[in-house]
Amino acid sequence: MSTDKDCLFCKIIRNEIPSTRVYEDDDLLVFKDIHPSAPVHLLLIPKKHIARLSEAQMEDQRVLGKMMLVASQVARENGSVDGFRTIINDGRVGRQDVFHLHMHVLGGPEALGRMIARDE
Ligand code: 5GP
Ligand code: ZN
Repeated sequence: MSTDKDCLFCKIIRNEIPSTRVYEDDDLLVFKDIHPSAPVHLLLIPKKHIARLSEAQMEDQRVLGKMMLVASQVARENGSVDGFRTIINDGRVGRQDVFHLHMHVLGGPEALGRMIARDE
């Protein structure tokens, strides 16, 4: 499994930095965002270090597909019972801050209009 010794989210995977984990399997980890933008704000990451979505390869398609399926499971299990929003920021234009691919899973009981990225 490819990992990066200096990457923040790889350190979270290795438990070198604490996080509130809500789901884990061989391929994926889901934990709570430290600065939530919505009542439910999870970060869903592959355990393999992929810096950004635009660097994912065809060999990653199984894990990328699994991210889609696990997103709805963890949203529901964490209290977003009536839908959710996913966001993947890519690179400078996409305002990506942490360069380990992650899907924001945003939800909760509030109106969708309030579940916006902090920069909007
Ligand atoms: P980006 O802007 O790269 O799409 O999102 C990075 C996200 O990671 C932000 O929402 C930020 O709050 C979150 N984040 C940054 N550092 C940490 C951390 O140490 N722990 C957790 N749980 N989330 C973090
Ligand atoms: Zn990483």
